[in-house]
Amino acid sequence: MTHDKLPLEPLFDKIEELKPRFIDRLTRAVAIKSVSADETLRPEVAKMADFLVDELTALGFVDIQKKDLGIQPPPVNDPKLPLPPVVLARSGADSSKKTVLIYGHYDVQPALIEDGWNTDPFVLTHDTVKDILYGRGSTDDKGPVMGWLNVIEAHRQLGWELPVNIVCCFEGMEESGSVGLPELIAQEAKKYFSTVDATCISDNYWLGTRKPVLTYGLRGVHYYEIVVSGPAADLHSGIFGGMVGEPMTDLVKVMGSLVDSQGRIQIPGIAEMVAPLTDEEDKLYDPIDYSIDDLNDATGAKISLHDNKKDALKHRWRYPSLSLHGIEGGFSAPGAKTVIPARVSGKFSIRTVPNIEPRKLDQLVVDFCNEQFAKLGSVNTLKAQLIHDGNYWVSNPFNDNFTAAAKATVDVWNIEPDFTREGGSIPITLSFEQELGKDVLLLPMGRGDDGAHSINEKLDMSNYINGCKTLGAYLHYYAKQ
Ligand SMILES: [Zn+2]
Repeated sequence: MTHDKLPLEPLFDKIEELKPRFIDRLTRAVAIKSVSADETLRPEVAKMADFLVDELTALGFVDIQKKDLGIQPPPVNDPKLPLPPVVLARSGADSSKKTVLIYGHYDVQPALIEDGWNTDPFVLTHDTVKDILYGRGSTDDKGPVMGWLNVIEAHRQLGWELPVNIVCCFEGMEESGSVGLPELIAQEAKKYFSTVDATCISDNYWLGTRKPVLTYGLRGVHYYEIVVSGPAADLHSGIFGGMVGEPMTDLVKVMGSLVDSQGRIQIPGIAEMVAPLTDEEDKLYDPIDYSIDDLNDATGAKISLHDNKKDALKHRWRYPSLSLHGIEGGFSAPGAKTVIPARVSGKFSIRTVPNIEPRKLDQLVVDFCNEQFAKLGSVNTLKAQLIHDGNYWVSNPFNDNFTAAAKATVDVWNIEPDFTREGGSIPITLSFEQELGKDVLLLPMGRGDDGAHSINEKLDMSNYINGCKTLGAYLHYYAKQ
């Protein structure tokens, strides 16, 4: 893609010049232990919200609100535990300009140095040899959130007007299920968010370590349980074995019928609902920087079901998959216990894609389990049901929002981005799209090996600084689309 370049060099130079300030901003953010999963650290999460309010105020944002989401529902130790507020803020109210909503989260995953960190997780540590910043939240998601603030600061220092109006929505509960946020988005759709033209979320990662990506799809997940019940209590196989129908035998047979060893789902009717692959979509896979060796490295074994990257990635992103997760109630300890479990529950899930209809899928799954069980002629009983679900999301990678981000990426990284999807879910993406009725773009800052939820989480300096440039350039290109 060649495009008419906007004169953004002064912005890029200013971002380079402000690098020490941007590192300092991220250092101060990482130092706040805003772990949403740890109730004892809830005051730190609140402190992080205040930190954002202070930064936004200093950067000239207006209409700054800390939206109270009430008390955290059970299970909690403290029945009065307040949910962290959602921080809303705006910059600009020029009706001749477009408005971009930027979403990020200011809470982080738990981290203890004893987990195996090489450095204190809450002290942003700059490895000057590798030029990498280590610290909890560096890439997920404090780096990107600070990135947006940095972009605003660079504009102010240049005396540049922002090319679009900005609406910020920063939440503090993302790592703990975004409790309360979908309701808030619905509530504010026609109020605080009423002028929004597009949403940009920077909270995922490049596929690998070398090439920037833009993400246009996420799979959904439907999680199911099959319960097989027989005797009133666990029995001894030496006394009852051979005389009674055993629930575990039935469950293993039914679970074994769901998917084959090549990963093919055996439930009729699901494959028929999958959107056909178009040539245009197929072409998006050609340039993607990925190989079967990358897959082998990630899994630590040669267990790929496909012999080429395109098929492998399609099965991760645009086809459904069924995984068997475990059996509750069965004997699973070491040794050789001769129990006949009375009641066993098998857990499995299906990753969903367009155009699978959620309720039709549930019906097909439950019917199939019942049919397979009926074939066994068992004396036991079986009940199959959905435990929870979240829908898939897919956007048009050729729309204005993505086109602007692609141009920004070319300007900053000097390479066309790969268009990727994620095999997992970011449920809030769908909430923004459905409630606001506007396009959502996933524009990641960090790399695939950043270790977002694990030890030694990091953000490469080049990703932080070029990431800021990309976010800034995206706003300028989007304004012109
Ligand atoms: Zn995140």
